[in-house]
Amino acid sequence: MSPHQFLLTRRYKMSLVHQIPAEFVGNECSQLHGHDFKVDVVVAGMPDPVTGFLISRLELDRIVETTLLKPYREKPLHELQNKMTGEAIAARLFELLRAPSALGESCVSVNLIETRKNRFQATV
Ligand SMILES: [Zn+2]
Repeated sequence: MSPHQFLLTRRYKMSLVHQIPAEFVGNECSQLHGHDFKVDVVVAGMPDPVTGFLISRLELDRIVETTLLKPYREKPLHELQNKMTGEAIAARLFELLRAPSALGESCVSVNLIETRKNRFQATV
C-alpha cells in the first residue's frame, strides 16, 4: 500500500436561493432569486488497505447531500445564515462538513466556485 497521503477533490453543483433587503443592495439581489455554484470538497487521508479508496464516493456523496445540498435546497440562504458573501458561504459549508457527524477533520478544504474569476476557498 502506498505510504502517501492523498487528497480527493469531488465537485458538486449547488443552487442557492436568496434575497437581500433592498436597503443593502440596489440591484437584482433585492428580489428573491437564485445563484448556481460549484462546490469542490477536498478530503485528505490514507487509502483504506482493503478497498484502496480514501473514502467511498457513495458515502461522500451521501454526507455532502445530507449536510450541504439538501438543507440549502430546502431553505433560502438568508434563513440559514446572516452573511451571504462568497467568503461567508464557503466558511459555513466548510464548518458543516468539518463537524464530527459529517466528514470531521478529513475535510481539509471547501472551494465555492462562484464564477470563472471568483473562487472562495475555506481551508485549515
Ligand atoms: Zn443574489
